[in-house]
Amino acid sequence: MGGVRVLRLDRCHPLAGGNKWFKLCLLLQRARAQGHRRLLSFGGPWSNHLHALAGLGAAAGFETVGVVRGEATAEPTATLRDCAARGMALVHVSRGDYRRRHDAAFQRALLDRHGPAALIPEGGDCVEGARGCLPVGRAIAGACPEGATVVVPAGTGTTLAGMAAALGPGYSLLGISALKGALDTDDRVRRNLAALGGGAGADWRIVHDAHEGGFARVSAPLREFQQWAEIALGLPLDPVYTAKALLALWRMLARGDIDRERPVVFVHTGGLQGRRGFAWLADGAG
Ligand SMILES: *Cc1c(COP(=O)(O)O)cnc(C)c1O
Repeated sequence: MGGVRVLRLDRCHPLAGGNKWFKLCLLLQRARAQGHRRLLSFGGPWSNHLHALAGLGAAAGFETVGVVRGEATAEPTATLRDCAARGMALVHVSRGDYRRRHDAAFQRALLDRHGPAALIPEGGDCVEGARGCLPVGRAIAGACPEGATVVVPAGTGTTLAGMAAALGPGYSLLGISALKGALDTDDRVRRNLAALGGGAGADWRIVHDAHEGGFARVSAPLREFQQWAEIALGLPLDPVYTAKALLALWRMLARGDIDRERPVVFVHTGGLQGRRGFAWLADGAG
């Protein structure tokens, strides 16, 4: 993969390696400015977001509450064990209730019970979360002033929105969606970009057909690719986001879909704690 530069966000913070530190930093600042001492947010049992929130929140002196999708299991995931060890109170809700996480009445009921607390949207998906990712775009602009094609894994697209706002028209951003059929991601990006204001921003596009079966699904080619890439490139990856996005980049390069005359940057968004959810990885606990 000669010529592809990798921006290692996974190495940026010891408690929250990856994009979550960027997405959460301004939200934590705002919660403090508003006088909150507790943070409440949402995530699945392997959530990188809750894991980061538990670590960063505790380090900043906040109490944290994690609303977890699905009933508690006899054996909690390694992620939730870490969250609890970092002092996060875990509130399990049924999958049906979890679907109401954006609903104002449901949020009010949670805050009545577990607040007062600053409510942090799932995945940090809001304009402050996107604003926190401006420095990621600026770092790329600084390293590649001549413009670049930038590939970044995408869930909510918050990270991509912040990067696109920071990068000018000389840059093309490709967000590789980890989800199947989440076509609303494009609207979320547009909304966050509009709220950030500013100039034209980078040219961007979400790729919706590189999910390899769906969120957290691992196809045989993805597994093979990740195992190969970790050895050949010496790059630790997670199957949910970064390996999928790197595989998509690899295929686009092989097909000649990407202009090799311009620099290509791959953004490693972290997520390595989630490797423990995959038994086929050496550090996976299954
Ligand atoms: C959360 C996460 C993403 C998705 O970021 P969005 O801002 O929601 O698009 C990508 N990669 C990793 C490793 C993540 O943990």
